[in-house]
Amino acid sequence: MGSTLSHMLETLEPQLVRTLFMKAKNYDDVIDLTLGDPDLPTPQQVIDAGCTAMKSGKTHYTANAGLMELREAISEDIFRGLGIQYSPKTEIIVTPGAMGALSLASMCLLNPDDEVLILAPHWPNYTNMVRISSAIPIDIPCYGDENLRTLLTRLEAAISSRTRLLIINSPCNPSGQVLSREILSDIALFAIAHDLTVISDEVYHTLLFYGKSHHSILRTSEMRESSVLVDSMSKRFCMTGWRVGYAAAPSFLIARMTELQEHVSSCVAPFAQLAAAEALKTGEKDSQRMTDVFSRRCFFMAERLNQMPLLHCELPLATFYLFVDIRATGLSSMAFALKLLETERVALVPGIAFGACAEGFIRIACTVSEAKLEIACARIGRFLSSLH
Ligand code: PLP
Repeated sequence: MGSTLSHMLETLEPQLVRTLFMKAKNYDDVIDLTLGDPDLPTPQQVIDAGCTAMKSGKTHYTANAGLMELREAISEDIFRGLGIQYSPKTEIIVTPGAMGALSLASMCLLNPDDEVLILAPHWPNYTNMVRISSAIPIDIPCYGDENLRTLLTRLEAAISSRTRLLIINSPCNPSGQVLSREILSDIALFAIAHDLTVISDEVYHTLLFYGKSHHSILRTSEMRESSVLVDSMSKRFCMTGWRVGYAAAPSFLIARMTELQEHVSSCVAPFAQLAAAEALKTGEKDSQRMTDVFSRRCFFMAERLNQMPLLHCELPLATFYLFVDIRATGLSSMAFALKLLETERVALVPGIAFGACAEGFIRIACTVSEAKLEIACARIGRFLSSLH
């Protein structure tokens, strides 16, 4: 084997969520709050559907765009949620998780040196997906009232002749922030004015607390024709390991993503696709039950953290993450995360993993029981006392 590897690899950054997750494995008795992978099981009828499919021989390649049964279930689910029609035949592709959809979309849409605006803080993988296409990610801070008020001015200032794409994620990992209908509508007008394609990653759209309803940029006029809707079963039905997600977009793009999927992964395992179809058809109540569990955990944890000196955490509106302000500790987010892991065996993610604007914060994934979160709080409290 020759020793020269692609120069593209040099442009990628380590994914710090995984880095902390792997570091946590070096310790016994660790409480791991790193990955966005909750402890709740996949609903039983979904597992049964997957097993039945496997036993009845659904163990071969499928069409690159996925099984029609699943694409139809996705199309109906989008229509129920957003009132938007996507043709299951030509406007939907089933992919290995949302990650598959995001990667294929960015590979199909980007050329070297194109610029991509990403609302920040953001899920770390976006930047590397953009760099894999030799394009340039540009973070636009969007967290908190002041950043939201000035968002459009800063988006305008970041536009160049090479800007092609805007990536948004609401509800947001890591902040739990939910963009209002008004802000989404402003962003849509901005994207249309500059002829940008929008990727709207909505994988947390059902994990909304207080019975809030979801707003999608796709519902803003004209956006359907210039957007890629990305979603998956991972968070909504606790199906992270099944690897089923999708993109819905105009047919010219879905056709090219489908061709590309043949060269990247061919298709998603058929029994996982059929389990996903079952989840979309019968899993609504399960999904609601999971969201209730996450909201209880988040409130429980946020209340305790807010009683601690040096920490502040906005009450979350969605997802299962807490985005905690640690600036009063005087520690960098990485130093905080590493010291807490080494001394108290609690693993969480430094804000810097989610972009420079998230320095001074940490992300806690409430993916374990309240009993474990209680122990984690006691350990974090002891850690903070040791800083004096
Ligand atoms: N998008 C966001 C915002 C995420 O937080 C994640 C996973 O954490 C993904 C996409 C990936 O989801 P999937 O498991 O469907 O690939």
